[in-house]
Amino acid sequence: MWKIMKQQKEQPRKNVSVRLEAIGGQGANSAGKILAEAAVLGLGYSGNHFSSFGSEKKGTPVKSFVRFSTEGKQIRTASYIKNPDVLIVFHESLLETHPDCLEGITAHTDLLINSTKKPSEIRFPEGFKVRKFATIDATDLALKYQCGLNSIMLGAATRFCPEIDAEILLKSFLKFFSHLEPQLKKRNIEGFESGRKQTKDFIFDESQANIQPHEKILPSMGWENAPLGGVILNPGNTVLKDNSASRKGLLPRFIAEICYNCGFCDMVCPDFCFVWKVDPQNKTAPALMGIDYQYCKGCQKCVLACPVQALVTVPESEFLESEKQHHLFPQTEIQKLKR
Ligand code: SF4
Ligand code: SF4
Repeated sequence: MWKIMKQQKEQPRKNVSVRLEAIGGQGANSAGKILAEAAVLGLGYSGNHFSSFGSEKKGTPVKSFVRFSTEGKQIRTASYIKNPDVLIVFHESLLETHPDCLEGITAHTDLLINSTKKPSEIRFPEGFKVRKFATIDATDLALKYQCGLNSIMLGAATRFCPEIDAEILLKSFLKFFSHLEPQLKKRNIEGFESGRKQTKDFIFDESQANIQPHEKILPSMGWENAPLGGVILNPGNTVLKDNSASRKGLLPRFIAEICYNCGFCDMVCPDFCFVWKVDPQNKTAPALMGIDYQYCKGCQKCVLACPVQALVTVPESEFLESEKQHHLFPQTEIQKLKR
């Protein structure tokens, strides 16, 4: 049974380390900067911030790190935060696709996850412990308020960093986004407030930590047994690639009844996800059949390009697994075996 923690004034910690885990494009780097600016410039703490990105930035894992000392102790390290006091996971899919995002959690860590699930529905590996825990459906709220996901997550983070006053964090947030149009700024403030108000802390129940660790599946060939001559037996290729790990909780949904086959979506899609039915006799124009979600990284470029809203942004959680696994391109024998 999960119990909501009674809101009580917590003693400010002397030194706080925060790790933000996200996928490129979700705004974790900006959120880290804003948090650090609120701590250092807004409250006079000492602190630092840095991030680590993949080479592509969008769609690749991003880690952002913030350290601050409420006592003004000099922070000399700029190393990876292995045992964070606060861990903020920008999307639940990371728990599956990048389980190392939970690395280094201890019984003193506070954990916040953007998830459609309630805290009681999330399961963790055996032996897992946290101090307090919360989930918030930030993807849905970001769609509702038409604001950045990081606005919601920063609002929610105020519950986990009581050392940083919410008003000061909001000021720092507005300064960072001072270049935005007033309307957009307003939407982001609303998002921030909704994140702040809708997040509740739960006392962690150890019975949820019941996933048995499974064996790591390693490639059958490594440096010790690879054939001489540098032969690559299974080169990366466009048929086998799977972009689902890059998604941030949103997918385009295709509404065939509205589509008039203009092809704009196909022109902007960076991953050739659109599948067309082509008449070999050329008697009819190509007709769009749908999206192959194996290749879709959820960038939403196609949604912006469609002139008639035949593509709409929908939370990935609203898709049935069978809808996502419906591959429209011909399957190779290897892929068929994998399913
Ligand atoms: S969201 Fe649209 S444009 Fe982006 S990868 Fe998916 S299908 Fe292509
Ligand atoms: S841009 Fe819209 S209308 Fe044009 S082909 Fe794509 S889905 Fe259909």
